[in-house]
Amino acid sequence: MAVVWEQLEQYQPTVMKMLAKSIEKGRVAHAYLFEGQRGTGKKEVSLLFAKSLFCLNRKGYQPCHECRNCRRIDSGNHPDVHVIEPDGQSIKKGQIEALQEEFSKTGVESNQKLYIVEHADKMTTNAANSLLKFLEEPHPGTTAILLTEQYHRMLSTIISRCQVLSFQPLPPTVLATYLQEQQIPPHLAFLAAHVTNNREEALELSRDDWFAQARKIVLQLYEALNKSDLRALFIIQQQWIPHFQEKQQADLGLDLLLYIYKDMMYIQLGEPEKVIYRDRMNDLQQWAMACSQKRIIENMSIILQAKARLNTNMNVHLLMEQLILNLKEGRAFV
Ligand SMILES: [Zn+2]
Repeated sequence: MAVVWEQLEQYQPTVMKMLAKSIEKGRVAHAYLFEGQRGTGKKEVSLLFAKSLFCLNRKGYQPCHECRNCRRIDSGNHPDVHVIEPDGQSIKKGQIEALQEEFSKTGVESNQKLYIVEHADKMTTNAANSLLKFLEEPHPGTTAILLTEQYHRMLSTIISRCQVLSFQPLPPTVLATYLQEQQIPPHLAFLAAHVTNNREEALELSRDDWFAQARKIVLQLYEALNKSDLRALFIIQQQWIPHFQEKQQADLGLDLLLYIYKDMMYIQLGEPEKVIYRDRMNDLQQWAMACSQKRIIENMSIILQAKARLNTNMNVHLLMEQLILNLKEGRAFV
């Protein structure tokens, strides 16, 4: 199903409002630069915007998604809408020149043309200079949309010729709602939405059995920790170590553990709406009652110390055993 305006408005309200206004007022810029992290919807927004510009039955600023032009943009077959992406590691001068040649002809079907340059920061110097000339003498009816995750790598001369729109990382609540729309159960959606603010990554993670299992082990570890350190050490040995084998996985495991303490903190602060493990609200409330705020803060800092140690060459098994003892005694790593 085609992405509609309201969906993208949830993710990027400011950007969508500005684009809607420019269409309504007939003041579309010659060139836009969409900058923001991966997974913030830059490409989707640029294609939707293209549909709005080319749609034969536009309603207000919204495309109909059904006309010939809308459908051809959806399938990547509109003769006046071009997408350029890196050819290997970079965007080469030849790619920009081919585009310019194409654009020197009038529009195949109308006098309107639009091009999207993905990863515009990957243009070679020659390609960037070529594009710059193009931006300096815009053809009437031509719209450029440059996309980048690396704004600081863009030439300032190019930036100054574009209207820059910044795409914000998605807030966890918005991302969690999106994940639930993709049939992810709420307890995994909330957790994944805190681990990353990238939609694709969050979706991939929350569909992975490994992640669901990771969550289980972390909660079990916390419960064991409340009973005895022997029980906790047993879980480390039997479950944690085999499951979180890579450093990156161990780091994620520590984050998941940290969120339990964060949740207890939110409960103590009277902000239960921020709780991440919300399906365990009753347990969290009990745990939060049994723990002083000072101790929660200390334990969070101990987990952060363990995360920092992961980047040294310390043996992960030893590190985790040390972590358990430190959490139990509220003692910092030495
Ligand atoms: Zn249409």
